Amino acid sequence: MKIAVLAGDGIGPEITAEAVRVLQALAAGGPKLELEHAPVGGAGYDAAGDPLPEATVKLCERSDAILFGSVGGPKYDALPRARRPEQGLLRLRKHFDLFANLRPATVFPELAHASTLKPEVVAGLDLLILRELTGDIYFGQPRGVRTNENGEREGFDTMRYTESEIRRIAELAFETARRRSRRVCSVDKANVLETTQFWRDVVTEVHGRYRDVELSHMYVDNAAMQLVRNPKQFDVIVTGNMFGDILSDEASMLTGSIGMLPSASLNARGFGLYEPIHGSAPDIAGKGVANPLATILSAALLLRHSLQQEAAAQRVEAAVRKVLAQGYRTADIAEPGKRTVGTREMGDAVLAAL
Ligand code: NAD
Repeated sequence: MKIAVLAGDGIGPEITAEAVRVLQALAAGGPKLELEHAPVGGAGYDAAGDPLPEATVKLCERSDAILFGSVGGPKYDALPRARRPEQGLLRLRKHFDLFANLRPATVFPELAHASTLKPEVVAGLDLLILRELTGDIYFGQPRGVRTNENGEREGFDTMRYTESEIRRIAELAFETARRRSRRVCSVDKANVLETTQFWRDVVTEVHGRYRDVELSHMYVDNAAMQLVRNPKQFDVIVTGNMFGDILSDEASMLTGSIGMLPSASLNARGFGLYEPIHGSAPDIAGKGVANPLATILSAALLLRHSLQQEAAAQRVEAAVRKVLAQGYRTADIAEPGKRTVGTREMGDAVLAAL
């Protein structure tokens, strides 16, 4: 099984190096993994004048999954938009039709205090937001600003979902729930928006083939409230692109630290791009203090969703839980009485726990 490793910019190479060590350790005694590196983002621009060099795309096409670090940095901020580091990521999503974005929000009991919510509300939280990534009002046509018949300027966008787009994300939600607590909550605004009433109807139809999974529906305004009131009521939340954009950021804050959260973006073949939700953190790049756990947990998602190596994925997640229980903390999650370590030392601890 081949993994394309695109470390990118800023802290990307530092945190990815630790995830690579974890994958190599697993490969030594288990699944056969072949890792190959290629530049992306600012590093791609430096190497080949393009944030997504052709050779990088070719490597990804030959691979079963992509492990992605992060892209961007002040050095590249003045480049024309098409050459900016972020374009490397956006073009990868488009090229591989990565329509499903999975964002688990897990609160390890040891880090419950890091949330702005009361520890008892978030301790043990384990929810997954499944966001549709390639449709909805973000891509619907027509859109623009025009002068209407009264001579007044008006802005407009089009919310649009096809049946097949809704079906494939709904199927993935039910399949994913089968590997978890078998509960799916579909979030919409069916009381106001036709498109999302249609979303609700199609999700309900698809549910007919997944009777072993419990399905509920919730309006997005209520979901935003329930996420901070009682987030542990949820298992899998499935929703469209715009609602998912907002709710997944809200959910990430339940956990307190951006350095702990992995994500996956998948296509219909199970091919995926796996990355921490945070950016390239230029303020701490090169200092060896970044938290590598979000990237290591992204590697666990890669093992689970693209390589079907559930046992290996669980080993990695258990190792992360163990180092937290042992008291290892990077600076972003530091607390009195615990041992503050750097990026490499945290990687060492995870390897030892493995
Ligand atoms: P950021 O996520 O890079 O950083 C926000 C804050 O969180 C910073 O204080 C940073 O030090 C801290 N932080 C982030 N990851 C951390 C980690 N692993 N360990 C410890 N602390 C961590 O967001 P930003 O500062 O808004 O953006 C910086 C650059 O990253 C920009 O160029 C932006 O475009 C880019 N970006 C890239 C991605 C991506 O690659 N997917 C996502 C978001 C932002």
